[in-house]
Amino acid sequence: MSGKGAGAPRTVIVVGAGIVGLSTAWFLQKYGVGVTVVERDTVASGSSWGNAGWISPGLAIPLNEPGVLGNGLKALFDPRAPLSVPPTTDTGLLHFLASFALNSGQRTWERALRGNVPLSSACLDAFEELAEGGVSAKVESSPITALFTSRKHAARLLMELDTARDAGLPLTYSALEGEAARAGVPLASKQVRAGVRIDGQRYVNPGVYTHALADSVRERGGSVVEEFRVTKVEAARDGGFRLHSAHGETETGDAVVVATGAWLGRQSRPWGVNVPLRAGRGYSFMVPTERIVPGPVYLPEVRVACTPHGEGLRVAGTMEFRAIDAPFRAERVRAITESAAPYLDGVDLNKRTDEWVGSRPVTSDGLPLIGRTDVPGLYVAGGHGMWGLTHGPVTGRLLARTVATGAPSPALRPFDPTR
Ligand SMILES: Cc1cc2nc3c(=O)[nH]c(=O)nc-3n(C[C@H](O)[C@H](O)[C@H](O)COP(=O)(O)OP(=O)(O)OC[C@H]3O[C@@H](n4cnc5c(N)ncnc54)[C@H](O)[C@@H]3O)c2cc1C
Repeated sequence: MSGKGAGAPRTVIVVGAGIVGLSTAWFLQKYGVGVTVVERDTVASGSSWGNAGWISPGLAIPLNEPGVLGNGLKALFDPRAPLSVPPTTDTGLLHFLASFALNSGQRTWERALRGNVPLSSACLDAFEELAEGGVSAKVESSPITALFTSRKHAARLLMELDTARDAGLPLTYSALEGEAARAGVPLASKQVRAGVRIDGQRYVNPGVYTHALADSVRERGGSVVEEFRVTKVEAARDGGFRLHSAHGETETGDAVVVATGAWLGRQSRPWGVNVPLRAGRGYSFMVPTERIVPGPVYLPEVRVACTPHGEGLRVAGTMEFRAIDAPFRAERVRAITESAAPYLDGVDLNKRTDEWVGSRPVTSDGLPLIGRTDVPGLYVAGGHGMWGLTHGPVTGRLLARTVATGAPSPALRPFDPTR
């Protein structure tokens, strides 16, 4: 990779030590830029910790699918529904939901689908570059198998995958009869009548992976400062920026990348970022299994993701539009266990450990926010919703090039944060 362009920053402060911020810092280092990552809590304390861990270019379909709102209305009456929209008077949330509704038509969804294709096409390559550059966490290769109780629903996923492949997503998949699906997933119950296998995907333990990335940033000379909650970003007198923390410390840099996940929605309006972004909270937990699970299992009818980790299975699901810091709600975990139980045999869903809630950064138009803001030298990177782990490293690679060389990548055009 070549050196810095004219007027390129020598130092960059990245705010947020999740997969997106740390990836951006790591790729900036490839351009010789000095990086400091500041984090309000600890590395991977946001949504990069307990997520399902799938690196899945084949399933990285934007959330604003046609029909998702019908499910939302159903959710108002069914506490077990995977989408939870609380009755609210929060005008910010109402504005987000209205904008989300406007963007949930076939045309707008396909636009988001096509916009995300450059990220999905290059995401595995970005993970490989990180591995070759010393990020030591294990990345497993595996198909993801979707299980269905209804053949009609399996056919619907196949149609969606056809649309995604036609839009350019890199996809190889095949339909499975019930018996073949159960043979491929030894934990599948007799109620499973059909399956779809999506080949060539990857998975990781996301918390372990994100920590390995932070270690690599440090080993290559960067610093990662924990418990530094940024409360103010100001222009420094001698150029660049000065960031202030809640405890009165400061950090300075020539440029700033704000990669604060679901918190970005609260912070970025003064910089000309007007696309509504809210926390789509999801839950996960670990359970022991009687048999080895060879790879990730997807239950699309109830929107639950299961991933083998060590001796057990991480089960993840639900989308709850509440405040980031709202309390953990045990009823959402119950909703996951009740909906997943009919599909699984030999899994004790009541022996749960590591219960967790995290906030997906969800934009109302299904596209992330990556690039320059209205403030020269201030960039944002986030809003990847359901797929921030999959798209985090490639986002970091593309944005680092923009920041370090001043030449924006055409692949980032649909994600212009000031759109
Ligand atoms: C249940 C669930 C399952 C999921 N499964 C998958 C999956 O299988 N595959 C996939 O690709 N994606 C998945 N996701 C989505 C993925 O987890 C997110 O899109 C991704 O982690 C977002 O990364 P991020 O770096 O943008 O945000 P985060 O990981 O949330 O990082 C943002 C960081 O910024 C810090 N921060 C915030 N404000 C400040 C401040 N003022 N000062 C300093 N620091 C600050 C936060 O503490 C946090 O550490 C899942 C999400 C959930 C909830």
